[in-house]
Amino acid sequence: MSGFPNDPRPAEANARPIFEVADLLSIEVGRGSVERQGPCPRCGGADRFGLNARKNVFLCRHCEHDGGKGGPLDLVMFVRGCTFPEALDWLCGPKPELSAAELAERERKAAERKAAQARAAAKFRAEAIEDAQRIWSDTIPAEGTVVVDYLDRRGISRELLPRTPAALRFQLAARYMIPDGNHGWREIHRGPAMVAGVLDRNGVLTAVHRTWIDLDQPKGKVVLPRLDKPGETWPAKKVLGAKKGGAIRLVTPQGADTLVMGEGLETTFSALVADRGRGAAYWCGVDLGNMAGQRMHGKGLKYAGIPDMEDAEAFVPPEWVKRLVYLQDGDSEPRLTRAQLLAGIRRAMVLRPGLRGWIVPCPTGADLNDVLLGHVPIDPTEGGGDDA
Ligand SMILES: [Zn+2]
Repeated sequence: MSGFPNDPRPAEANARPIFEVADLLSIEVGRGSVERQGPCPRCGGADRFGLNARKNVFLCRHCEHDGGKGGPLDLVMFVRGCTFPEALDWLCGPKPELSAAELAERERKAAERKAAQARAAAKFRAEAIEDAQRIWSDTIPAEGTVVVDYLDRRGISRELLPRTPAALRFQLAARYMIPDGNHGWREIHRGPAMVAGVLDRNGVLTAVHRTWIDLDQPKGKVVLPRLDKPGETWPAKKVLGAKKGGAIRLVTPQGADTLVMGEGLETTFSALVADRGRGAAYWCGVDLGNMAGQRMHGKGLKYAGIPDMEDAEAFVPPEWVKRLVYLQDGDSEPRLTRAQLLAGIRRAMVLRPGLRGWIVPCPTGADLNDVLLGHVPIDPTEGGGDDA
């Protein structure tokens, strides 16, 4: 910014909340108090584009070396395809002629605004957690409900899983809400849902993961057509609350020292039923970003899988975990997925000395059993390689 002396606008612009700037640019992202994901406004996809309110930055995993990352002003340049001065004018209006005192006052206001932003994010988070806890208190045990039929439909039969984990519950009339386009919410469906509780490090419920059930559909999940996007549907699963750092603890046998973790419930279940009583714990990490935490970005680092240790909210396994197994889902971008999982495992290795880690494809019971029988773990010093 040295090319713009006495211009208070860059500091002001970059103090604008990234969510707000994304809103101004009409970028569609999901809900979340700290992180939001969605398709990239430049290259599309489903969830490769992310906003982080804590760092006040954005990142597109595809465009990151092509202007696809940075702060609020970078985001304006990226989406509008304009220069830095143009982005400043667009976001702040023309450069004002100001005295030193006025400049100082503007800077003070920018700092104040930043602090207010942090307070608002904290409040939003607390409210989301309260909402999640309210939903949880509206549930009953899953045994004897359609949750059992739903799991059976997904290949997790009674024989494979004689008892439904307590982490899964049933809500009879779960409300499916979507943004109404006017900062409010609108209900588009109300019906039975499987509710999985996401617990934080201290075992406190901070989020709920809901799957709306409709056994008349082949996959057992509700199908909600999008009126705004003909041919597309709303996801049948949604997470409400603060999931970062948390997990859905499906089973945690007494004395377990191995934690097997997958991104999705089905993946984790598939591994669980392949275990056949070897005594590992099975937790669902809810999403890849949570299992990985923030990674170091920059030239040559795309696939390196190096954790950003400043991310204090990322998932860290409990102290009893001596062996951490991350399940790798089939994904369109296996190298990127692996880099993310690698970052999560390396973070765990740094914070839990002595812990060993594995990444195994799922669902393939054979690979998992190899791990459970104990074979070559990940070498944390191994290079990630990078072609980007
Ligand atoms: Zn992109």
